[in-house]
Amino acid sequence: MRRYVIAGNWKMNFTPSQATAFINEIKPMVAGKDNCDIVFCAPYVTIAAAMEAAKGSNIKIGAENVHFEQKGAFTGEVSAEMLREIGVEYVIIGHSERRQYFGETDETVNKRTKAALAAGMKVILCLGEVKEQRLAGITKEIVSMQTKLDLADVSAEDMKNVIIAYEPVWAIGTGLTATPEQADETCGQIREALAEIYGAEVAEATIIQYGGSMNDANAAELLAKPNVDGGLIGGASLVAKKFTAIVDAAQ
Ligand code: PEP
Repeated sequence: MRRYVIAGNWKMNFTPSQATAFINEIKPMVAGKDNCDIVFCAPYVTIAAAMEAAKGSNIKIGAENVHFEQKGAFTGEVSAEMLREIGVEYVIIGHSERRQYFGETDETVNKRTKAALAAGMKVILCLGEVKEQRLAGITKEIVSMQTKLDLADVSAEDMKNVIIAYEPVWAIGTGLTATPEQADETCGQIREALAEIYGAEVAEATIIQYGGSMNDANAAELLAKPNVDGGLIGGASLVAKKFTAIVDAAQ
């Protein structure tokens, strides 16, 4: 049985005080809703305040990126060890905005994934096709290739700590959502790629989220699909009522 993971990606939103206020607002709203794991991934400077506010609740706080080197002359970067020391358990890697605006490639995504896993973190690995690729009918090939490249040299044992977020790039922040059938089909194709690498047992056990304009109105239908094990949520993770409705849909 796979467990739902409902994760918010705050992106470059919420200062520490804003995050504290948000967590204090949403904490009672999601209390006792234990049929899913609840995670908010926060900007680096906001993590500590969000964690403090979330103490004693069922909310976990993660990061939005991590560097692959352990330490050294990498100005502006943050290592896995630094995140671990402050108690960060989850980290998003390979988000399409990082691939699009910050030169992230499958190679660097793979390096970051291995560094985070080696430090004992859980990785939310994002991948997905762009609009032209979907229109060209090559979505399956694209997500299979990304799965294989991004997970190169990641062991079957480490896959226990990998969550895949299938995020069609054309659906992120656009208000366009993949239909539940498209989401289910593509998450299933990612599972097939996992089966090719690791075998059926690992593929069946791996949590695969859908992300791309998931909200209070469409979450129930998406989460009802057999291959969709949760959501990675951008815009709706900034609004307590909307995010709580998604958590409710996963109960
Ligand atoms: C995301 O940032 O991962 C995302 C899915 O954003 P949104 O929900 O706003 O489309």
